[in-house]
Amino acid sequence: MTCYTPVVPLPRTALVLFTRDLRVHDHPALAEAIRSSDLVVPLFVLDPALLGGGAAANRIAFLVEALGDLRESLRSLGGDLLLRRGDPIEETLRLATAAGARTVFAASDGSAYARARESRLASACRDARVELRTFPLASAVPPGALVPAGDDHYRVFTPSLRRWSATRLRPVAPRPARLRLPAGLDPGELPAASELSRGRPSPGRPRGGETAGRQRLERWLAEGLAGYEALRDDLAADATSRLSPYLHLGCVSAVELVTRVRELQERTEFERQLAWRDFFGQLLAANPRSARESLRDRGDRWRDDAEALERWRAGLTGYPLVDAAMRQLAAEGFVHNRARLVAGSFLAKTLYLDWRDGARAFSELLVDGDVASNVGNWQWVAGTGADTRPNRILDPLAQARRFDPRGAYARRWVPELAGLPGATVHEPWRAPAGLVAPEYPARIVDHVAAAARFRAAREARRSPVAAEA
Ligand SMILES: Cc1cc2nc3c(=O)[nH]c(=O)nc-3n(C[C@H](O)[C@H](O)[C@H](O)COP(=O)(O)OP(=O)(O)OC[C@H]3O[C@@H](n4cnc5c(N)ncnc54)[C@H](O)[C@@H]3O)c2cc1C
Repeated sequence: MTCYTPVVPLPRTALVLFTRDLRVHDHPALAEAIRSSDLVVPLFVLDPALLGGGAAANRIAFLVEALGDLRESLRSLGGDLLLRRGDPIEETLRLATAAGARTVFAASDGSAYARARESRLASACRDARVELRTFPLASAVPPGALVPAGDDHYRVFTPSLRRWSATRLRPVAPRPARLRLPAGLDPGELPAASELSRGRPSPGRPRGGETAGRQRLERWLAEGLAGYEALRDDLAADATSRLSPYLHLGCVSAVELVTRVRELQERTEFERQLAWRDFFGQLLAANPRSARESLRDRGDRWRDDAEALERWRAGLTGYPLVDAAMRQLAAEGFVHNRARLVAGSFLAKTLYLDWRDGARAFSELLVDGDVASNVGNWQWVAGTGADTRPNRILDPLAQARRFDPRGAYARRWVPELAGLPGATVHEPWRAPAGLVAPEYPARIVDHVAAAARFRAAREARRSPVAAEA
């Protein structure tokens, strides 16, 4: 008689590498890993190449909170978030081997660094005979999914918006019900934010994580969205969603957000802003060098003026709206979009300083600091990117009268001017003596003269022969 030992099939194990997708709701890679495998290993690797240098304390604090929150969520599903430090490729393959994972699920991202990481991961997985399955990451509509006739990406926003608005999004993935982790894996320590960054986070920065992001999302859809179009440029009202940091780290999914907004309203102004985010995402993916180089070189010879840069950064230009923006940035790691535009135009056009210095200063403090949106917008305000009117200059005074007509935003952030009523706060140089605190500086330049200097410089670069004659 022959005896057969029953063959117990080995469990199918998958590893999910988290990057900028720190959530469990609408996470297609996690949902697919759980559906197609018996055991799942969720992993996040703290990559010294991204976290080194000690800068960006706001984003690091937000990241650590988001990782802690994700770990709690995965634990409540029966799993865990494994944390490692080091090279993401080596750590992923090491853990995949230890756990016996045959498939790695990862997200594709648009920056040059993320693309190089994905291609290294693909080749390491091939060598180790591990299957790699990638899913689009941050955008509602992935970069490259929409292309105009005869080109490989959209260079101008408006035509891309038409296609984007008519595009059906992938279905929102359900939140997993449970997850099984292989036994015996070391979960790894979640470091304190102070261990990863030298600086101190801004006191008013938002709390990181999917739980906080979803609370904000629900409140926004219920209470904020309806008034967005009327109030989005009103600086004092502060009536925008403030979802950007959660979108940046994927604590809230862009696909879910757009889907839910479309269920509530058709063709909203809010949806249009989310389309800008995808537009800049595809612009960076198609032009990775635009993170450092002007997309359209206008021949600018940016001024070298360290003192002016420092005064702009510190919120001491003497233009209250510009100063308010920079002080909000320092205090909250966040700035209202209209104020970002005014402060950005002031740096690149009024002061005629290199937009890269501005982008760096924003990136060091913004909790939502994102290469595609930051650089895309900076190049837009500097007129070296996707703006179809590259030489337009935002007049800080005209902007202040229009978007902060009662002066409440300027007074909120520039206490030296608290004694100036209404819109007079925007022109402290006209105020009667004694109403402006003596430490508030005089204007760094006269905007009108500086704007003329900028226009002349751009004109000269356009027709150098005529200008030199
Ligand atoms: C110079 C400059 C630098 C910027 N840097 C960044 C950055 O690093 N990261 C970032 O997320 N946004 C950046 N923006 C865009 C915009 O200012 C912020 O997305 C917005 O202020 C975030 O606030 P909110 O979430 O309340 O926006 P809402 O007005 O509620 O808009 C909803 C969402 O749409 C997206 N969005 C809105 N406006 C833009 C825009 N102009 N470009 C791209 N996406 C947009 C954001 O994801 C935002 O969360 C920058 C803008 C300028 C002018």
